Amino acid sequence: MSADRKTLDERQQMSDLERLRHSCAHVLATAILKIWPDAQLAAGPPVENGFYYDIDLEHRLTPDDFEKIEEAMKAEVKANNPFEKVVISREEALALAKSGRIAALSERSIESTFKVDLLEDIPEDEEISIFKNGDFWDLCAGPHVARTGNCKAFKLMSVASAFYKGNKDNPQLQRIYGTCFKNKTALEEHLVKLEEARKRDHRKLGRELNLFSIDEQVGQGLILWKPKGALVRRQLQDFITVELDKQDYYQVYTPHIGKLDLYRTSGHFPYYEESQYPAFAERDKLEKLASEGSTCSELMSMLRDGEIEGYMLKPMNCPHHIKIFASEHRSYRDLPVRLAEFGTVYRWEQSGELGGMTRVRGFTQDDAHLFCTPEQISDEIQGCLGLVQKVLGTLGMNDYRVRLSLRDPADADKYVGSEENWDNAEAAIREAVESLGLDYTEEKGEAAFYGPKIDFVVKDVIGRDWQLGTVQVDYNLPERFDISYVGSDNKPHRPVMIHRAPVGSLERFCGLLIEHFEGKFPTWLAPEQVRILPIGEDQIADAEAVAEKLKALNARVKIDRTSDKIGAKIRNSRLDRVPYMLVIGKREAEQNQVSVRHRDLQDLGVHSVDTFLEAFGHEVSAKLLQPAPLASE
Ligand SMILES: [Zn+2]
Ligand SMILES: [Zn+2]
Repeated sequence: MSADRKTLDERQQMSDLERLRHSCAHVLATAILKIWPDAQLAAGPPVENGFYYDIDLEHRLTPDDFEKIEEAMKAEVKANNPFEKVVISREEALALAKSGRIAALSERSIESTFKVDLLEDIPEDEEISIFKNGDFWDLCAGPHVARTGNCKAFKLMSVASAFYKGNKDNPQLQRIYGTCFKNKTALEEHLVKLEEARKRDHRKLGRELNLFSIDEQVGQGLILWKPKGALVRRQLQDFITVELDKQDYYQVYTPHIGKLDLYRTSGHFPYYEESQYPAFAERDKLEKLASEGSTCSELMSMLRDGEIEGYMLKPMNCPHHIKIFASEHRSYRDLPVRLAEFGTVYRWEQSGELGGMTRVRGFTQDDAHLFCTPEQISDEIQGCLGLVQKVLGTLGMNDYRVRLSLRDPADADKYVGSEENWDNAEAAIREAVESLGLDYTEEKGEAAFYGPKIDFVVKDVIGRDWQLGTVQVDYNLPERFDISYVGSDNKPHRPVMIHRAPVGSLERFCGLLIEHFEGKFPTWLAPEQVRILPIGEDQIADAEAVAEKLKALNARVKIDRTSDKIGAKIRNSRLDRVPYMLVIGKREAEQNQVSVRHRDLQDLGVHSVDTFLEAFGHEVSAKLLQPAPLASE
């Protein structure tokens, strides 16, 4: 795997597991050549969770081929051949590659084209080596495990296409992904976890449960929230809004666009132009300039330089909020000013990086900006962290750690804001985190140039880390926008700004919630909370009466009016992840009762309608994660 042109240092840093996985890539290559001796091999590095090998092969590989390939791999593992390193000269290596002996089991009548090419990438002064396992020779710098027998616990995972060296002008290859672990138990655990993740995949569940969709004609990475997904989002927003009201935030609304000049002042344009939707300008002006002979690239650079007035979709809400702060006279008595907005922003992510709700081009942040005096930072941060804790705790996400990104004192020139301010802010952050009893790590040198930051890293139910809940102190933007308040000394002072977003992006957070709950949202968050299942036509009127009572509690309730058998009605309701099913048959109807079923707990018995309403009302208003017990009658 000679395409792996990492420095010697980086190679030596290969972890034990990476070394094992890379060695398994050699085992895979050996097996491929046993079956298809003319295959051309390119590169086979370890990657996160496994390894791959890029192969040029006429036969179109599919997962149906895996069994055969795995059999050949097992034979190579069983042979337990040592990985043997042979250092050779550049000329020898080139001769071997040209005679087809490298990346092969024997000399071939064809040249090993990719290896010939890869040899040229190896710097003049670097040692060239081949590694042999049995008859298979590969151009490789290593390192490997001792023997092929070490690669016992492997599995082929998938096949994809990939351009040679990742360049679309190069030939298209077939990339086989596999994974390998120290032992079978670790492999099994990994496979179970993958299966669990697959079952929970929010793209799959989002489609099955009709939560959101993405439409090519609307644009990649732009989420269409369908009615059920929108209901989940609205519950979340309402919940956050209530908490913001308690903390004396003001809700504001700002437009989705702003003038380029605004972002020139904030520093978002043109420096981050690559990661933004293209700027736009008045049609009349552009048409006039174009008719006068300006080329497209000239127009672009006039926009960039501010010779034409332009606009763009907002990549951040901060500049708009700063303008709201600056729109009034502010005295120290007015501070802190806390401006909150569910603000939608747009970023131009590369299309290869887009996927479901977790990587998108438009998203809504639960954003807010706090403008305060330096003395108020500590209390404000404590309030922000308390809010993040409240949100995560309510959703049962209690497995998280807190990461403080601080400045690197050795690199003081890098940071804006006075040393005194930084000391103050870092101490305030530490104090806030400690007073809330949070476990935290400090990462020196990780702060942005404009201020220290706090992140929450949340572990989901299947052990994956998600970075959420950011609180960022900022000394830069108040300076750039020259905002001030009048202090008790009657002189103007610069406020400190805090950016904070407890869940970050609502799109990404809902994607996480779908996976975390496997689509089984707690009742307060569920798009449909109760489904009433009349056993026959005769009970529909009774079902309607119960539905009316639930609606009076603002419950989201539906009646299954199909002629399906009750078993099918229950099944459909559970497939839709509806928390409660209320079955009404002849007897229940006569006694003003319902037979209560829960999607997870099954049969909860027959209860009076009022008993159910009371427990249900409590569960929703207290935002319980588990069903409230039904009082016994
Ligand atoms: Zn190797
Ligand atoms: Zn901001």
